[in-house]
Formats: sequence, structure tokens, C-alpha cells
Amino acid sequence: MSPPKSRNPPSCKPPRSAVKRLVSAALWCLAIALHAQPFGFPTANHALLEPGGEPRFFVGTTGKPYTTGMFGCVRSGGWQVHEGLDIKCLQRDRHGEPTDPVLATDDGVVMYINTRPSLSNYGNYIVLRHMVDGIEVYSLYAHLFEPRPGLHSGQAVHRGEQIAVMGRTSNTRERISKERAHVHFELNLFYNEHFPAFFRRRYPNEHDDHGIWNGQNLVGFDPREVLLEERDLGPRFNLLDFLRRRVELCRVRVRKTDFPWVRRYPMLVQPLPTAGPVAGYDISFDFNGLPFALIPRTAADFKGAARYELLSVNEAEYTKNPGRRLVHRRGASWELAPHGLELLELLTE
Ligand SMILES: [Zn+2]
Repeated sequence: MSPPKSRNPPSCKPPRSAVKRLVSAALWCLAIALHAQPFGFPTANHALLEPGGEPRFFVGTTGKPYTTGMFGCVRSGGWQVHEGLDIKCLQRDRHGEPTDPVLATDDGVVMYINTRPSLSNYGNYIVLRHMVDGIEVYSLYAHLFEPRPGLHSGQAVHRGEQIAVMGRTSNTRERISKERAHVHFELNLFYNEHFPAFFRRRYPNEHDDHGIWNGQNLVGFDPREVLLEERDLGPRFNLLDFLRRRVELCRVRVRKTDFPWVRRYPMLVQPLPTAGPVAGYDISFDFNGLPFALIPRTAADFKGAARYELLSVNEAEYTKNPGRRLVHRRGASWELAPHGLELLELLTE
């Protein structure tokens, strides 16, 4: 016996609540896609995200633990700063040379390609410019075997696009061994387009081979922290929040109102606390010399004639991260060290 025919054929429409759920799920996916996390890994090595994966992600210096391939005061007992991540290679050719594709961390524009490895301890390197949450950021990829053929300054690249092949180029006396093959990856802000003038005055007998793309003109923050925070916060990651949360190493009062950093990073400048024309800034630096907060000051705040006045030092932070040598103790008090003065000159050139 055949089942009775249904008088009303079943509707092909799902119930209204299911449609709603589907639509809201689709909108959520779209929202995630539109707010894609800005920074991606520069190679296929994502071991940083795996529990206990750090030794498979970082490469240490010869004979030293993997932590010496991390960002910060990780070398020479904390007295030497490593301003990027040394990320381990995953694939090699039959001679044992690294062949990992190196990928753009975000949509951006090629700003500089150095293909004369003898001119830099970075070896062959590439600098890209990105706009993230309204902030100009520069990523740098070093020790490359070669940039992608045809890649040139001014060219737009997309997040995840191959820009180079990993290598082990450098001009240092001690070459990078095959075992230590890695890409050195940095995320930076940019100090000053007047860098060449600063360099000529500061180092009259040296030649600046890379113009404003000298590594000294870029100031890094920790890509590991960024990548982990992106994992934890998802689309809520915000670069400005991240930068504002840097730990202060020292605060310096600077008697200058108009310098490139203020114009390039106005989002780091706080509102003027008192009425009156701005005569300078109190600048908070993190241990690496990144000026992450600027408080405008009026003429009444400036007592002496000094161009720079060290206002405070966070001693706990100095004990933890002294490597940039921005300040030092003289007797019972602190003062700006030569490296700190040099940084202030570069910033306000
Ligand atoms: Zn490195």
C-alpha cells in the first residue's frame, strides 16, 4: 500500500528561524572577513601558535637557546637588542639550502629592496609599508636568498603574497649556517624622513648605503606579541591599543614642536592638558626607543634652556630590558646616555 499523498507538498523553504540563523551566520563570517587580522605570518611556519611550539619557530644564535631568536634584549645577557624574530626554515633543497617562500604580512607597498648583501648585516632585505588601523607600519624581511623576480619599489602586494625566497645572506663575519637558516622578520614604525641629514652629521666618515631605509631609522615592536594577541582577540585586535600599552622605560621633555613623528603618528599625541600654544612634548619611550605617547607642553613647563630633559626612569623596566642603553645611572641620579641623546636627535632632526 502506497503512503497517502500529501495534499500539501512539503515546503522547500526552511522555517523562518533557520533562515534568520543562516543570515546572521553569513553576516558574522562577512564581518570577520572584513576585519581580517592585519598581520599574518611571513612564512608557512606557524609553530608559534602550537603549545610548546616555540623551539620549532625560533632559531637561536649559534650554541644559544631559541630565546635568542626572539624580539628584545635577548642577547649578550640582555645588553644586546634583537629587533625582530628569527623564524626557522621548514623546507630545503637537496643541498640543504632553505627554500621557504617569504610572504607579505599584510597588504602593502614595496618601499625598498636591497640586493647587495655585502652592504648590510640584513643581507638581501625588503621593506613593505602598510596602513593598519590608520597607522603607518613597516615590515622588514632579511637574509633573503632573493626577492621575487620583477618585484620593485612602489609595487602593491597582498597579504600572504610571496615576495621572496628565504636565504642566509648577511655581511657579518660569521655567516649564517645552513642549520640556522631563517627569515629575520620585523614590524616597525618609522622615525624620520630626514634620516640622511642626521646620518651625515652623526657619522661624517661613513656612507649610508640605504638612505631612509637604514635599519636604524625603523623602530621595532614585538611581532610575537602581535601575532599572539591577534590569535586571542581576533577581529578586536587594534594596533593603536597595542602601541599605547607599551611599558615606559623613560620619559623625556623635548623642547621642539614640529618634527616628523608628531605629524606621522598624531594618534600617539595626547590632548593638550592646559591652555596655551604647544612649546614641546613629554615623550614616553619603551625600552627599544619607541615613542609611544606624547603629551604636549606649554612654555610655562620649560624651566631651563636644555633641548632634552630626562623626567623619569622606570627602574624595574630598565633592570629587565637595558639593552638599548638609552639612559644610565650617574651617582644617585639617572641621565640620558649617548644612545638616548642620539635617538632624540634622530627623532627631532
Ligand atoms: Zn634576526
